[in-house]
Amino acid sequence: MTHTESQDLLLDLAYGELDATRAAELESHLSGCAECRQEKAVLDEARRMAAPLRELEQPSPASTSPSFARRAPRRSSSTTGTSGR
Ligand SMILES: [Zn+2]
Repeated sequence: MTHTESQDLLLDLAYGELDATRAAELESHLSGCAECRQEKAVLDEARRMAAPLRELEQPSPASTSPSFARRAPRRSSSTTGTSGR
């Protein structure tokens, strides 16, 4: 594996999208390349800092509004009408 290749794969590894074979190749390059180890450390740090932010974004106030809960029974009654036919 070349240094340029491994730089691309570091991103995939950080997002957990690298298959085991490529990951093993990357690890062996990392063991001999301080620059890539540094790059991986930066990516890991960035991902760790982004993770809690993503959790905060998910529960939006609109999804917990009562109007959303009111929709659920309406949908189930239309299903009953279809099965009655
Ligand atoms: Zn490298």
